[in-house]
Amino acid sequence: MYSCPVCSEKTIGFPRKWLSSSSNPAMCSRCGAGSAIRVADAAGYLAGSFVLLTPTGFAVVWLHSFLVAVLGLVVTVCWYLWRQHKATLVVVAESEQRTAKRSAWLAVLACLVPSLFS
Ligand SMILES: [Zn+2]
Repeated sequence: MYSCPVCSEKTIGFPRKWLSSSSNPAMCSRCGAGSAIRVADAAGYLAGSFVLLTPTGFAVVWLHSFLVAVLGLVVTVCWYLWRQHKATLVVVAESEQRTAKRSAWLAVLACLVPSLFS
């Protein structure tokens, strides 16, 4: 369990922390505050995972080994989960949550627009 950044009680489980975002914050069961991992941190961990996978891909091609692919994937997933575990939660204000939800829906609509013209 992870501590809520407002009341410091350990009320947030790993799945909720991992899936938290500004538009869908992890809610504290004690004080009701929303919190999430910073967008820049979460995006950086994801990008770092792809950076870790790149040399794995080169090693797989060079060594022709499926075992290297599995090992690289396991190392990358472990690194990503460890970074998510170590990430600090920040408070998500109600207004910030509303703005993030609007932005998320706008992004979904922006992704759907090209399909209307195909
Ligand atoms: Zn709390």
